[in-house]
Amino acid sequence: MLLPELRGEVARYAKKMYDSHLVQATQGNLSARDPESGFICVTPSSTDYQLLRAEDIVVVDEDGKVVEGKRRPTVETPVHTLILRRRHDIHCVMHTHSPYATAFGVIYQPIPMILSDSALYLGCEVPIAAYHMSGTPEFAEFVANTLKDGPAVIWGNHGVLVVGVDLSLTFSIAHALEDSAKVYAIAKQLGNPVLLSQEEVIKLREFWINNFGQKASKL
Ligand SMILES: [Zn+2]
Repeated sequence: MLLPELRGEVARYAKKMYDSHLVQATQGNLSARDPESGFICVTPSSTDYQLLRAEDIVVVDEDGKVVEGKRRPTVETPVHTLILRRRHDIHCVMHTHSPYATAFGVIYQPIPMILSDSALYLGCEVPIAAYHMSGTPEFAEFVANTLKDGPAVIWGNHGVLVVGVDLSLTFSIAHALEDSAKVYAIAKQLGNPVLLSQEEVIKLREFWINNFGQKASKL
């Protein structure tokens, strides 16, 4: 089996994504690139996360062509492969339907920077891509153009996508995004949320990049 270790890690993090309620049922998908071969390990279509094993993860090339795998790759493979082709600073792409962050993509308002964790992992307001039907090369282009060189993008009326240098960081970014949205929604019901200043967000982000950014350089 090609890339058994990386496929096992993709299966493990896909389960973590499910267990921590970033996705429900068969929603969402996850990919990780092997930096040496350039091959991408991606979750299969219609994933039952509780049964997911390393051999269920599909290996595709950078154009999405199946190299090895007995299952069909996720229907969102075009967006994973396009982003990984364009971005050489990251190796992982995670798409979730985490509910609070998705809700901001329904009202089309950016998630305010209210938590230090969000400033560290996200560094700025996350852009929202207008609704388009997903799963097509055109949609992939649209999402990649909205993401640009950032860590996350919200898909309007659908979900979110985050990217990172490794699976652990990508998972943390997905949670930082969801936590910001959730805590903001709760705080708003309690009173008037106080936002972090732009200067503080920049300071926190730079601190994190300088102290921890380089450490997350392997899969
Ligand atoms: Zn989705």
